[in-house]
Amino acid sequence: MRLSRYFLPILRENPKEAEIVSHRLMLRAGMIRQEAAGIYSWLPLGLAVLQKIENIVREEMNRAGAVELLMPTLQLADLWRETGRYDAYGPEMLRIKDRHEREMLYGPTNEDMITAIFRASTRSYRELPKILYQIQWKFRDEQRPRFGVMRGREFLMKDAYSFDLDEAGARRAYHRMFVSYLRIFARMGLRIIPMRAETGPIGGDQSHEFIILADTGESAVYCDSAVLDLPIPPQDVDYDGDLTPIVKAWTSLYAATGDVHDARRFEAETPAERRVATRGIEVGQVFYFGDKYSKPMNALVAGPDGVERPVQSGSYGVGVSRLVGALIEANHDEAGIIWPESVAPFKVGLANLKVGDEATDAACARAAAALEKAGVDFLYDDTDDRPGAKFARLDLIGLPYQLIVGPKGLSAGKVELKTRATGERVELPLEEALERLAAP
Ligand code: ATP
Ligand code: MG
Repeated sequence: MRLSRYFLPILRENPKEAEIVSHRLMLRAGMIRQEAAGIYSWLPLGLAVLQKIENIVREEMNRAGAVELLMPTLQLADLWRETGRYDAYGPEMLRIKDRHEREMLYGPTNEDMITAIFRASTRSYRELPKILYQIQWKFRDEQRPRFGVMRGREFLMKDAYSFDLDEAGARRAYHRMFVSYLRIFARMGLRIIPMRAETGPIGGDQSHEFIILADTGESAVYCDSAVLDLPIPPQDVDYDGDLTPIVKAWTSLYAATGDVHDARRFEAETPAERRVATRGIEVGQVFYFGDKYSKPMNALVAGPDGVERPVQSGSYGVGVSRLVGALIEANHDEAGIIWPESVAPFKVGLANLKVGDEATDAACARAAAALEKAGVDFLYDDTDDRPGAKFARLDLIGLPYQLIVGPKGLSAGKVELKTRATGERVELPLEEALERLAAP
């Protein structure tokens, strides 16, 4: 992609409304634009990251045996009346009337609708288990939208729902999602901690929030620091096998959000030097709620004995758009964002230091062609801005590598390759730099 054709509205000044670093950097780097409180346009650079995150989530969900579908954002109020949630949900629900005065709502979550979808077709244990998921916009009319996309009103969520005949099956589904969550966040380079949590308006009797530690997080959290050293399940983890040992290892060390924290237990279970009391960002949450929706909605399945019973369910959310902010909270310095490669909008920023100089233009064209051929995403800065401005912009937008091509280096047969995370710069022949960048 050529920068001259791209749309990257960088802000020179620090936006006053941004209280935390991720919000400030997302605005400055031209990733988002606020359209109303808690409602954002995703500009090309922001969208590129959002899509990278979405794809990691999708790959790991599919690997864990979940199946993607897509439900509408707008739902009928009558559906939510079946479970009593239309009245219970409160002012966070955006209620709308259509031209026929039919009451509708913009979905804040989808347990009711997915249960209706399931109920319409599935009658027998033979069709179970099932895990269905979507990646879809939600709306919650938050009392205090803030911190940019971290607490928006409209936000992108991956929400999965499991269906099983009995509680044992539902626990297996919970474990599947738990393990896939460990992998999802690890692939983004985040150190994730599953913590015992309150169930809130989703309901149910078991829940874990997936939290990353950050001073700017909104939740108070307490945990055993040893949880940070646990191994992440490998890509070929057997999702059809027994996942209990993995979940047990991750849940036997103390980790709880403020809502369910038990100070006495914390002290009894955790050696003093390993006690961490800090703040965290919730990037995902899993719930087991059994028949909370299937019972009132009469979503029944017959077991091997022929007896019909309410299907056992759980739901599993990931804050896809919140993750963009959370990733920046975890990866930045004074100069700007430092994207982990797996979620970077482009892997490489190619900087032409003297546009119009024949040799420099030719070397950049060669580099662009080679990167293209190798399937490496890159942003080619072909503008006539000063080198200093180009460096600052590339540092701000945080691409993992900068390939810097200028007449001076070229006359010695060299280009410069900078690694954003470490600041390390090496001079080397162009072909060698391209080989390095093409390596997976
Ligand atoms: P919170 O406690 O932060 O309000 P929640 O517990 O109400 O979130 P869930 O129902 O668990 O949210 O939703 C699943 C995920 O969606 C959350 O873990 C979070 O990452 C994300 N999420 C929830 N609310 C918002 C929001 N207002 N803006 C952005 N992401 C959100
Ligand atoms: Mg939650």
